[in-house]
Amino acid sequence: MDTGVLAAIFSKVDSPFGFQHFSQPCLGSGEALVAISLTTLCGSDLHTHCGRRRGPTPVVLGHEAIGRVVAVGSGLDTSWLERRITWTLTDSCGLCDPCTRWNLPQKCERLFKYGHGGLSDGSGLNGCYATHVVLRSGTHLVPVPNSLSDAMVAPANCALATMLAVIESLPTQGEQVVIQGAGLLGLYGCALLKTSGWKQVFVVDRQPARLLAVPRFGGVPILSTTQDAIPANSADVVIEVSGSASVIADGINWLRPGGHYAIAGLVHPDSALHLTGETLIRKCLTLRGIHNYAPRHLDAAIHFLSKHRDSYPWESLVSPPIPLSQLDEAFRLASSGKWQRVSVIPDGLGASVS
Ligand SMILES: [Zn+2]
Ligand SMILES: [Zn+2]
Repeated sequence: MDTGVLAAIFSKVDSPFGFQHFSQPCLGSGEALVAISLTTLCGSDLHTHCGRRRGPTPVVLGHEAIGRVVAVGSGLDTSWLERRITWTLTDSCGLCDPCTRWNLPQKCERLFKYGHGGLSDGSGLNGCYATHVVLRSGTHLVPVPNSLSDAMVAPANCALATMLAVIESLPTQGEQVVIQGAGLLGLYGCALLKTSGWKQVFVVDRQPARLLAVPRFGGVPILSTTQDAIPANSADVVIEVSGSASVIADGINWLRPGGHYAIAGLVHPDSALHLTGETLIRKCLTLRGIHNYAPRHLDAAIHFLSKHRDSYPWESLVSPPIPLSQLDEAFRLASSGKWQRVSVIPDGLGASVS
């Protein structure tokens, strides 16, 4: 069957997406061609779209998705064909120091990140705002059980797996944790921490609307203007997923002596921390940055969703699907903040989607 690919091309900040047809890509060793079933718009794509974040152009953006394997290159087992999968948002070489000695494959020296490489890089078809994506050799593929819907799984290979990496980095299990930011990472964090035994999970945000979902994911919502609700020196752990450097002072204040601060949201240049060494030393604090995740975290993410499928309203986080041909509209909707994730479904636009 013809597996011509139709992809949305991002060329310029604040410009409409263009659509381009490609013939069926020739797969290299270890590569897979995946028909996208559903993809979701991540905050990092919104930042690229509005110019807050820079990358090569033209590019097929999009990295959160679920799909079905429709072709495999030599070296990849044909048993993957027709399987419903998700995949790591990076590939890694398995040979360099970060891969082999430092347990940080997400910092591989030859790292490639889906939805971030230019069209001139290899097949160029490495983004998910398309009918198909080419997965490169070194990408970790994870089968998805049929019990999980596309909407439950699409954001797992970015937000949920990253949150699993954050939680793995925490020192030990404690009593009280504060999450700064009620975005998708914050809500996933609530569910993960509650199910792993943390007694109290506060979630702080400055937007009341974003806090509405927090109780449904096991957390206690706190509006940032009423942050006195959390006593100073009380939290074992604070997790920053708000993206705002201004919240750090509050987090330091809430941490108990010996507490642990996990910082995962400040992935942009405007992130200087106003923090003295004296504060860190006198409170004996640990500061830990976490960026992306390793393959084991995506395995754990799918396992977690399978085990807790009915425990939390996962699908309420994702909008009804918008056709790929209306990707500009999907970006407008995502910018409105109405949904934690806006989902997009390939509608073919005349391409043959096998
Ligand atoms: Zn993402
Ligand atoms: Zn490597």
